[in-house]
Amino acid sequence: MTKAELKQRVNAAIDRRAEEIIGLGEQIRKTPELGFKEVKTARLVEETFGKLGLAAKSGLALTGVRADVPGRAGDGPSFALLGELDALVVTGHPVADPQTGAAHACGHNAQVAGLLGAAMGLLDGQAFDHLAGRVVFFAVPAEEYGDVEWRVAQARAGKLEFLGGKPELLRLGHFDDVDLSMMIHMTSRPEDGKTGVPASNNGCIVKTVRYVGKASHAGGAPHMGVNALYAAHIGLAAVNAIRETFRDEDTIRVHPIITHGGSQVNVIPGEVRLETYVRGRTVEAILDANKKVDRAFRAGALALGAKVEIETLPGYMPMTCDATMARMYRDNMVPVVGEEHYRQIGHRTGSTDMGDLSMVMPVLHPYMGGATGSGHGADYQIVDQQLAYLGTAKALAAMAIDLLGDGAAGARQVLKAAKPPMTREQYLAFQRGIARREVYEG
Ligand SMILES: [Zn+2]
Ligand SMILES: [Zn+2]
Repeated sequence: MTKAELKQRVNAAIDRRAEEIIGLGEQIRKTPELGFKEVKTARLVEETFGKLGLAAKSGLALTGVRADVPGRAGDGPSFALLGELDALVVTGHPVADPQTGAAHACGHNAQVAGLLGAAMGLLDGQAFDHLAGRVVFFAVPAEEYGDVEWRVAQARAGKLEFLGGKPELLRLGHFDDVDLSMMIHMTSRPEDGKTGVPASNNGCIVKTVRYVGKASHAGGAPHMGVNALYAAHIGLAAVNAIRETFRDEDTIRVHPIITHGGSQVNVIPGEVRLETYVRGRTVEAILDANKKVDRAFRAGALALGAKVEIETLPGYMPMTCDATMARMYRDNMVPVVGEEHYRQIGHRTGSTDMGDLSMVMPVLHPYMGGATGSGHGADYQIVDQQLAYLGTAKALAAMAIDLLGDGAAGARQVLKAAKPPMTREQYLAFQRGIARREVYEG
């Protein structure tokens, strides 16, 4: 059987399960959960694997679920197909969880539906008779790096070390036996066409900033206080003032939020807390911008005579997609979507922890259309279920066939050409080296 015939059989199997796959994507869309708390979504994934006869491991990095299926056509590399479980808090999103505010405004529900659909198609289509090596179906937690205070508390309690899903899975060794991996992210940008592969993505580091002043009576004795909110205000203004020193080609993004702005209105704020990312195209650019950002935050403390505690946390590494896998993906997708709807996407300024995996193995992170609105916006929605849910399933399955068919010749070709920049140990040492805490008395 040729790869093309096998893909046809698998696609037909996915089409037979269309209603079920779309149903899973919609069910997850309506049950949005924040990173490392994706309990219901993880359970649904585990149950679905169970119905397919797969024994899954669950609770990996708190909520990850992994099921392995060996090929029956010989030994070969392990290829992981990933789907991200988590949602994020977006004010005003119409399908938000009323308690947590979580909403699937990044389309991760379609990733998981695609992952489960690919498993169904490959199993129903008896593809594993023709594949060598192993497919690892992996639903992974916490790609969106938010909810930082809660995650820091989990780390202090010893439940996490890294605060993003894939870095934590890497640390715990759940990718040690995986040789190459891919996932497909949704896109709502018309310029991305129906699908395409990006050249690269920004990396980031994450910071929490705590200004400590002195509380006092805001009406009766403001001169007795030290206003932490004004200190923060000056720190934020200083961050804005350094933006013009960032070079366009470094695509720096710094976007702080205030998570605590004061205790109550008749008290001079004694404590104000911020969070921010510092994103950029290269590690060097991120570290350079980070130094300036720290200096800017100190300025607020200096001006008011407050104290600032700056905690710098490992974020995500810049991502580069593997060129051989990107070529295979293009060859698969151009006949499906048409040349005019396929895109070679340029550098993207968002960050993803797929970048962390790209440090230690060849990865592919294409984008798939079918969504409209603004990513992370209240108007974000999936409008083309065929493309977003079923198209993703078929594209993942086709890549498994290309890489692991013919005795896994495709995967071997990828691995021969790829030169991941770090070993797992080097990656962990680098990320641990990012972590630091500074206390500056202004
Ligand atoms: Zn996102
Ligand atoms: Zn996302």
